[in-house]
Amino acid sequence: MPELPEVETVKNGLNKIIKNKKIMDVKVHKKQLRNKIPTTFKKNLLNSKIIEVRRRAKYLVFDLSQGKLINHLGMTGNWKLKDSSYKKEKHDHVELVLSNKKRLIYNDPRRFGVMLYSKNEETYFAGKKHGAEPLSREYSFKYLKNKLINKIAPIKAVLMDQAVVLGIGNIYVAETLYKCGVSPLRPANQVTDEELKLIVKHSKQVLKQAIKSGGSTIKDFKKAGGESGYFQTKLQVYGREGELCRKCHIPVENIKLSGRSSFWCPSCQK
Ligand SMILES: [Zn+2]
Repeated sequence: MPELPEVETVKNGLNKIIKNKKIMDVKVHKKQLRNKIPTTFKKNLLNSKIIEVRRRAKYLVFDLSQGKLINHLGMTGNWKLKDSSYKKEKHDHVELVLSNKKRLIYNDPRRFGVMLYSKNEETYFAGKKHGAEPLSREYSFKYLKNKLINKIAPIKAVLMDQAVVLGIGNIYVAETLYKCGVSPLRPANQVTDEELKLIVKHSKQVLKQAIKSGGSTIKDFKKAGGESGYFQTKLQVYGREGELCRKCHIPVENIKLSGRSSFWCPSCQK
């Protein structure tokens, strides 16, 4: 699943290639994604200029000359750019024909992605209980402490809760907790103030580092769709089940928490 750094990389990639391009035609090959793309979608997008693409949580918001195109990559969504000789490939669901004749294609095998037009994005986001953006100043020790009071759920589950903090994601939560020496299983309200400060600091750092190593080339932008992306080589604990902990050399374990893999070192993380 694309996590925040991957979405950021896709955003950067898109901005390099589609800024200030006009949408000349819209072809919807498959209407049913997570939402059903309405028949008005084409009419709303047609002749709009793409001013810029922004990331909002794990959503991509395309600022158009008229309104917004809102997209969430879901589990397997990705964008690709093709020239005018483009032939539809498997799982290509939406095709935007741009003023430079290029085709911007949304591909999504599992179709959990969101694709919609909104005059005003606030109407769409208003109904969503969103916590702080991890890279914002709002996401601080004080903020997290407040959110965690009385929460007895495991700290990992709480950090994955979008109403607490947005889109750190499974990989980067694992990396953060490892760096802080905090077990993913620890009840959230039993994490000390010192540890909370570390969690805030390291989650920001881990995400920034991932975004940095994601770069902004088209190559990276194309492979930004999977959990096993470019950041994998730098991962300290995620995906390393059975391999030796880099700090204490006992095997890394993987337990299921709310259905998600949770990699951790039982000796380094208390
Ligand atoms: Zn260890």
